[in-house]
Amino acid sequence: MRWSAGDRGNVEDMRGRSGGGGMIPLGIGGFIVVALLSMFTGVNFFDLLGGGGSAGPTPVGTSGTSAPPANSTPSEERLVDMVDAVARDTQDTWRQLLGNRYEPTKVVLFRDSIQSACGYAQAATGPFYCPRDRKVYLDLGFFEELQRRFGASGDFAQAYVLAHEIGHHVQTLTGTESRVRQGQQSDPRSGNALSVRLELQADCYAGVWGHQAAKSGRAASGGVELDPGDAEEALNAAAAIGDDRLQKLGTGRVMPEKFTHGSSEQRVTWFRRGFDSGDPAACDTFAR
Ligand SMILES: [Zn+2]
Repeated sequence: MRWSAGDRGNVEDMRGRSGGGGMIPLGIGGFIVVALLSMFTGVNFFDLLGGGGSAGPTPVGTSGTSAPPANSTPSEERLVDMVDAVARDTQDTWRQLLGNRYEPTKVVLFRDSIQSACGYAQAATGPFYCPRDRKVYLDLGFFEELQRRFGASGDFAQAYVLAHEIGHHVQTLTGTESRVRQGQQSDPRSGNALSVRLELQADCYAGVWGHQAAKSGRAASGGVELDPGDAEEALNAAAAIGDDRLQKLGTGRVMPEKFTHGSSEQRVTWFRRGFDSGDPAACDTFAR
């Protein structure tokens, strides 16, 4: 994947101000359990916190200027630039697709833990989108986990994760997220099934961006451009973090009724649907 560093206008760097002492290391078992519960957290994260309705922007503890940490490394700084470039490119794509319905978001970078408008979050939660302050939250360490624990490597696998979270932002802007939440509140038994549909749509939306990024000549104009094989990276990542794969890893069993994000096959199918068509209308995971 080719990209060029920009002004970091799409990230809010809280690495130097988040987390810190007093954290209890989760260890491998703990990580997997937490990851199982809330990998790519969408709706369920908020269910656990008892949140209801998107009450509009309520920034908590993430205002103010960005502060790069003193103990960062050159490779970490390069990751920050990559996240910024992907967030910029993804948002450009959605601005084109949604016109003035699109509102910009930012990726809040944190270390270990952070207080978001959706509650206290730890790195082990995985990246997530908070509908209340309409921001994406990411601990860069997740990319290492993605590679090490889930075997999904490559920068487009990382970009897919970001594009998925920005897909949740799009769902908030289009009202899909609040409709799903209302549906879950009126019929709690539908909770997981609706959550899966919401997550698969975010996968499809990530694919919609990938469709644009696959066009040649984008790097020359400062955009993100995929290399051959990049789409496979994303598909591999989507497959690696399917609920069935994660459940097997965590418990040795597959329990479809507990799926919140969809199986590996479903995630791959919906990403590909968005990637092949480039059309958000192809992402109606709620159609019967
Ligand atoms: Zn998600």
